[in-house]
Amino acid sequence: MNIVFLGPPGAGKGTMAERVADETGLAHVSTGDIFRDNIRHETELGRKVKELIDRGQLVPDSITIELVQDRLHEADVQLGWILDGFPRTRPQAEALSEFARVDLVILLNISDEEVIRRLSGRRVHPESGRTYHVEFNPPAKEGHDDVTGEPLIRRDDDDEESIRTRLSVYKEQTEPVIAYYRKHKLIVDVDASGTIDEVQTKIHSLLKE
Ligand code: ADP
Ligand code: ADP
Repeated sequence: MNIVFLGPPGAGKGTMAERVADETGLAHVSTGDIFRDNIRHETELGRKVKELIDRGQLVPDSITIELVQDRLHEADVQLGWILDGFPRTRPQAEALSEFARVDLVILLNISDEEVIRRLSGRRVHPESGRTYHVEFNPPAKEGHDDVTGEPLIRRDDDDEESIRTRLSVYKEQTEPVIAYYRKHKLIVDVDASGTIDEVQTKIHSLLKE
């Protein structure tokens, strides 16, 4: 089964995709994580995209589509995948339909106020991509990753200005993707405003159906 998680920045796509991947064995593919790995390792791709990402702008479609196409041809995703953060534009959605089959699109709905609450308290472990929240999902030891004990950071694009940009980019460029998948009758709406466990339970039961 191939699933796309859609929703505004901070809706919980990464958090839910990771949990569903653990539960189902599907591969979790996050374009944001792939870009951030490239930035950390100072690859050519990383250098190209860093400034755009820090400002909350999208990476050009041509770069992103090729990256996902290559990733979905790798061996570990052949039993099915969860895409988190892609597609984010209508051309990306159309391109995806040419090289892969999407079975289900889970749309996580939350308000702008909740987006801001979630993103301003988000903390991440850069190496693994593990994500916490200072209030809603705190690590066992404040400021440190539960598994490695290493320090957590605040993402460079989780500052107020980038959050505002990402929300407007979402409305302009990603909402058309929702319309596209609605037309193809692939969307299931999920109210993502509950706790992490509540949202996970909802997704679990809809996947069982
Ligand atoms: P996205 O991948 O959609 O940007 P994340 O999964 O990174 O979102 O979640 C954004 C922040 O909100 C993180 O700090 C995460 O711990 C927290 N979070 C995720 N889901 C929930 C939820 N249902 N309730 C409260 N906080 C949540
Ligand atoms: P969020 O937590 O906002 O959902 P992601 O981790 O998915 O963020 O993405 C972080 C940044 O990486 C985006 O703001 C954008 O700059 C870039 N990015 C990720 N996925 C895509 C994509 N599909 N198309 C273009 N840019 C992307």
